[in-house]
Amino acid sequence: MARFTRDSVDRVKEAADIVEIVSAHTDLQQRGQDHWGNCPFHEERTPSFKVNPRDKLYYCFGCEASGDVFRFVEEKEGLDFGSAVESLAERYGVELKRENEDPRAEERRRRKARLWELLELTAKYYERYLWESQKARRARGYLEGRGLGEEVLRRFGVGMAPSAWDQVLTGSQRRGFKLEELHAAGLIQKGRQGGRYDRFRTRVTFPIRDQRGRVLGFGARALMPDAKPKYLNSPEGELYRKSHTLYGIDRARGPIAKARRAIVVEGYTDVLALHQAGIEEAVAIMGTAITPEQITMLAGLTESVVLALDADRAGADAMVRAQKVARGKSIELRVAAMPEGEDPADVLGEGSAARFMELVDASIDLPSFRVDVALGRGDLSTLAGRERVLDDVGPVLKAMGETALGFDELVRKVADRLDTDPSLVLARVRSAPEPGDETKSNGAVKSPRPVAVSLTPRETRERALLAMCIADPETGRRFIDQLTDEHLSPSGKPALRWLREHLDDPMAGLPREDAALTSLTTELVMRAESEPASEGAMQLNLDLLELQRLEDGISAAQKAGNYEVSTRLSQERAALTDRIAHAGVIS
Ligand SMILES: [Zn+2]
Repeated sequence: MARFTRDSVDRVKEAADIVEIVSAHTDLQQRGQDHWGNCPFHEERTPSFKVNPRDKLYYCFGCEASGDVFRFVEEKEGLDFGSAVESLAERYGVELKRENEDPRAEERRRRKARLWELLELTAKYYERYLWESQKARRARGYLEGRGLGEEVLRRFGVGMAPSAWDQVLTGSQRRGFKLEELHAAGLIQKGRQGGRYDRFRTRVTFPIRDQRGRVLGFGARALMPDAKPKYLNSPEGELYRKSHTLYGIDRARGPIAKARRAIVVEGYTDVLALHQAGIEEAVAIMGTAITPEQITMLAGLTESVVLALDADRAGADAMVRAQKVARGKSIELRVAAMPEGEDPADVLGEGSAARFMELVDASIDLPSFRVDVALGRGDLSTLAGRERVLDDVGPVLKAMGETALGFDELVRKVADRLDTDPSLVLARVRSAPEPGDETKSNGAVKSPRPVAVSLTPRETRERALLAMCIADPETGRRFIDQLTDEHLSPSGKPALRWLREHLDDPMAGLPREDAALTSLTTELVMRAESEPASEGAMQLNLDLLELQRLEDGISAAQKAGNYEVSTRLSQERAALTDRIAHAGVIS
């Protein structure tokens, strides 16, 4: 996809309110120019997360998560850079321009935009029909019978497709949409005689949207008791792919990030009932098993996913695959077992969330759940029955990973119940078949949490020095000029090169494709605002880096047998240590 022009990206950044955006994920308090709160990227009790509203930057002094407003949206909302820019542009009403776009890509983008428009218009049409037509009384009765009020139905744009064969077909053509576009959007189908007619008729329609709220297709429930199938979905196509979509994700995205948990249910009306009851972190899968793509989507938002669905009925294989993907993304899958014969909407009953939340709180991790199911179902009194249990739990435990918390406990539990030795169970786990490897399925979303890294002493010094140079660029310039690549760590070298040219405004024009440089520069700028810079401290850090450089030189010279150089450098080192000692500052 062609890149947005630098200018339009800058205008989006200018318009975006980073405090408002971060506040959806953690509470911020203003202190001076900055805002502080608990870090939304790691667990903590005292705030070490700082947001700078002027430069639209954030930095965590605990886990070193850092970046600008785009980076934050990428990380917390599971979007790539382009989508983060688009999403903020939409939110803050900025028009985006693209750099000389490849004509074919532009063509594709225009086409998608038209299909989205067509689907949006159709959703609006169905919605109006539901509320305004006499003939929709039955549909309204059905929804009322499910306990769903008008407010939540309107929030999700629920509608009704009329019984006529060609309402959408002719209406859309009048608006200038082509037959081919109606097909691509999944709104019409071809009859046996070659004629075309509306795909959805006499059904309650649930618009299925992407993370950004664009309609991709519909789920549609039959209103006539004998109509088949009971649920008819849009066909898989250019926009709609069942396995890549979660119903309600556009509404649930923020609440999931805030609650640090997603609740996954099976049906459209379950999602509506939960949102109506104030449980807004709920989404629905559109099949029986959660897919790797759906987990990837959620991994961008949270670390914990509670499956409030019939996990026993969903294919065991699919669950094992899901577990494996979840492990790769450091996300925990839990199961909240619904009472026999009840779905989440039933559990909510009169709209009280308490009973449902009790089940969520009592959820257990997926491997434990699968093990319990296998043990409960298996006939442990026969050899064949015990074999069957081992066959069932083997792949589950393997997908869990031997280093996972609770792994040993589960192995012992199975061994106890089967009255056998844990080492035998472990052997079966190791030889269990691998589920299809789908961890590489979607590279768009990065791993959600930055890992706290420990810095080498050299990195600590160089970062302190570079941050002070940014804080006081006039003095800093002199120190920057004295630094060479030999003073610096591998990550420090590109930062030095960048700062030589951009010390006065380090954030301007950062090459975004260079993630390491962008991240380090952001960190340095944020530190620069918090750490006092003094010439003495700068000199000390430079001296210590110089000391390290001399020591590196001495050991290299000794290794090469070059004693002349080694002796000269040792003399320099002695002079330097002397100077450091007499500067009266203790490092
Ligand atoms: Zn943090």
